Amino acid sequence: KGIWQELRLEGGRLVRRSRHVHAVNDVSFTVGRGEVFSIVGESGCGKSTTARTIIKLIEPRSGQIVYDGEDITAYDAKQMLPFRRRMQMVFQNPYASLNPRHTIRRILTEPMLFHKLAVDRREADDKAMLLLDKVGLRQEQADRFPHQFSGGQRQRISIARALALSPEFVIADEPVSALDVSIQAQILNLMMDLREEFNLSYLFIAHDLAVVKHISDRIAVMYLGKIVEMGPKQELFARPLHPYTQGLFASVPKLGGKSLQETSLSGDVPATPTELPIGCHFHARCPYTRPICHEQAPMMKDSGSGHYAACHILEG
Ligand code: SF4
Ligand code: MG
Repeated sequence: KGIWQELRLEGGRLVRRSRHVHAVNDVSFTVGRGEVFSIVGESGCGKSTTARTIIKLIEPRSGQIVYDGEDITAYDAKQMLPFRRRMQMVFQNPYASLNPRHTIRRILTEPMLFHKLAVDRREADDKAMLLLDKVGLRQEQADRFPHQFSGGQRQRISIARALALSPEFVIADEPVSALDVSIQAQILNLMMDLREEFNLSYLFIAHDLAVVKHISDRIAVMYLGKIVEMGPKQELFARPLHPYTQGLFASVPKLGGKSLQETSLSGDVPATPTELPIGCHFHARCPYTRPICHEQAPMMKDSGSGHYAACHILEG
């Protein structure tokens, strides 16, 4: 029982839907302690697949996942148990990720008891009440069910549940995308306050550059299963190198505004990973395509200060 099973259940669901899991290739990055690292890209680019692979809700076919110096790539469920506590996930849809038949009290206390972070129900309960305060909910609300809360409140509950296990690393997969514009900034601010207070590292997933602009230390831009550009936020915003990133900036919406697909980037994202183009994945939509772009995939190249991009034009 508890969070671990919930995660396994989620994993099982993903496995059954594995035909629809977006393929991810050659994605390589490190999230530092206390850092907010964001992955940005259009829907279907593999952001969520990447996130779920890190906590092994999806098993990687190759590559390596190292957490705090420990290679967890081949770990089985039992070996993963302590990591299931240290790494927590907040999902896009709080409606789907909270058990509708459990009270908030139970949603928060069960994982603590399962992971032995509280000696008894009473201690778990005290901790749960404290967490409700921290996420801006009232203790009197503890015996209500998820459906009795608004979307923003439900996301606060998801965040409290993640924090119940005293994690070090929180993966937030589009945590504000499903929320009203007026609520988005509140949740982002809450997450940043909690980061400070609990000394958290975040991997933040978004389809919207505006969402990650204020919160990120570093940003990676993903396109069709690959990271095409990555760098410190200021660098990336001041000098976007990859044509795709430049397209994103040209179309950057206000917080909660139009999604990227509706804006200035032209052409369609290929429907399935099996239709992935040869060469640069972006060549069908790129305004600078050269013959080599149809044949050869560009490599990530460091342009200084940890700012990387993969584009033939940049190779000179
Ligand atoms: Fe455009 Fe070629 Fe660069 Fe790809 S490698 S982004 S197609 S110029
Ligand atoms: Mg997603």
